[in-house]
Amino acid sequence: MPVYLDHNASTTVRPSVIALMSDVLAENGNPSSVHAHGQAARARVETARRQVGKALCARPEDVIFTGCGTEALNLAITSAITAGGVERLLVSSIEHEAVAETARASGLTVEEIPVDATGIVKLDLLAEALSRPGKVLAGLMLANNEIGTIQPVTEAGALVREAGGLFLVDAIQAAGKIPVDFAAIGADYMAISAHKFGGPQGVGALLAACNAPMSRHNHGGGQEMGRRAGTLNAAGIAGLGLALEEAVAELDSFAGLADWRDEMQAAIKKAAPNVQVLGEGAPCLPNTLALAVPGWRGETQVMALDLENISISAGSACSSGKAKASKMGTALDLPDDRSDGVVRISLGWSSNRADVDALITAWTEAYERASKSMKVSA
Ligand code: PLP
Repeated sequence: MPVYLDHNASTTVRPSVIALMSDVLAENGNPSSVHAHGQAARARVETARRQVGKALCARPEDVIFTGCGTEALNLAITSAITAGGVERLLVSSIEHEAVAETARASGLTVEEIPVDATGIVKLDLLAEALSRPGKVLAGLMLANNEIGTIQPVTEAGALVREAGGLFLVDAIQAAGKIPVDFAAIGADYMAISAHKFGGPQGVGALLAACNAPMSRHNHGGGQEMGRRAGTLNAAGIAGLGLALEEAVAELDSFAGLADWRDEMQAAIKKAAPNVQVLGEGAPCLPNTLALAVPGWRGETQVMALDLENISISAGSACSSGKAKASKMGTALDLPDDRSDGVVRISLGWSSNRADVDALITAWTEAYERASKSMKVSA
């Protein structure tokens, strides 16, 4: 049986979501049409909007559906610049490219706020950057996609507010995995993506607080109260709403994945004591295990496990395959041989005991074979 342990890239779509989406796809109607068919599609969308609001402690009217998480993040950054008068962008050194690259592409000055050795943003350096002149948009992820560290977004948000800036939280890896409270965090913007919590790929949402500056990102019809033009993906949105509702109802069992994560970690450390567990000692997502294996390249590990029918990843799905220095390795100040050997094993709601056993056996056997030809530093 193939074993899927790359749930942070995209997790299993929930069967109830597939059933709901196929019902919605079989129905006629554009949610913007006034006739009964259109209104039925609209009802599907508004149900999802309420589900998202309830799951994340936001008002349904704060929810803007988008074509993916990346689009939601782009919409927030563009809005903050064009409608919010932002002059400087602050992003942590471990933000996803959907934030980091969008910030760089904006043409504004982008300042990177470093993380400590465990992968947690340095709040003192954020405060220092905020003390310099120029209105700021600060972007910080709630949970990191590669190593799973949970960032102090509430504290960071308070600092940003105090400095009169705008605050964007990338909650794409956090929503449906740990409790997320948009109101308590006090962010101006927050992004989520359905395929990270059991919904379909290609649908996301931006939560924008009532006074958050918003601009038109794409032009066309007046959908989403003029904030995001384009016919709504009623089936995808319905799937997103149900998936998030179910994921949030199951947060306790998701938290239990930490037992399997710890078991894999212990078995790997026993077989390879020089392996570094990234994020160790920091608050982390319960499902994510990131390892730096000196002398064994991440891509080679992925291939070795793929031969055993087990899917893991070297870094994030978006950046793996690119021949460039690992951004995470640089951010965490890892020596080259560790930085090259980073892999991520991520569990999901559909993972089971057999997956964990298969990973432990395959990884430790492959390591033993590989270690015969490894140049290991320490
Ligand atoms: N932000 C984070 C933290 C992510 O993990 C991802 C996807 O991996 C994204 C943004 C992009 O989301 P999407 O794939 O929906 O565009």
